[in-house]
Amino acid sequence: MPKKVSRPKTPKKKAPRRKAAAELHGQCGCGSVMFTVKGPVSDVVWCHCSKCQRFHGGPGAYAAAPRGAISFQRRDGLAWWDVSPTVQRGFCRQCGSSLFVSDSNEATLSICAGALTPPTGLSSESHLFVGSKPDWYEVKDGLPQHQTS
Ligand SMILES: [Zn+2]
Ligand SMILES: [Zn+2]
Repeated sequence: MPKKVSRPKTPKKKAPRRKAAAELHGQCGCGSVMFTVKGPVSDVVWCHCSKCQRFHGGPGAYAAAPRGAISFQRRDGLAWWDVSPTVQRGFCRQCGSSLFVSDSNEATLSICAGALTPPTGLSSESHLFVGSKPDWYEVKDGLPQHQTS
C-alpha cells in the first residue's frame, strides 16, 4: 500500500506540489472512467508489494491528490474492490484498468500514475516495499528505496 501521509522513513518530507501541468486528466483504457485533477499532485511513489503486483501485474506507480481535487467527467465504469475495512482499490469494470487506491485513514487519494495523460510534469520520488518485489526485475534508478512502507 502506498502511504503518503504517515511515512516515517521519508528523508525529505515535502508537501504535495504542482509542477508543469496546470491540470491533469486521467482515464481508464476504454473511457468509461474519465477524471480531472486540479491543484497539487504529489510525485510518483512506486510500490513493489505483493498486493500491488497482483493488482497491476507489476509494481504500482502512484501519484496522490486531495480527494476533493478529483472530479469525474465519466464514472459509470468505476468500481471499487474492498481490500480491507479501510482500503479500496478502484478500477474500471469495463476494461479492467487500475485507477485508484483509497485508504480511509489518508486525506489523499492515490492515483495509478499510468492513468494520467502525459505530459504530467510529475517525477518518480521513491520506491516502497522493495523487499517484497518479485525476482524478475531490479530497481536501479537511484531513487530512495524502502524495504517496507
Ligand atoms: Zn503496494
Ligand atoms: Zn475502462
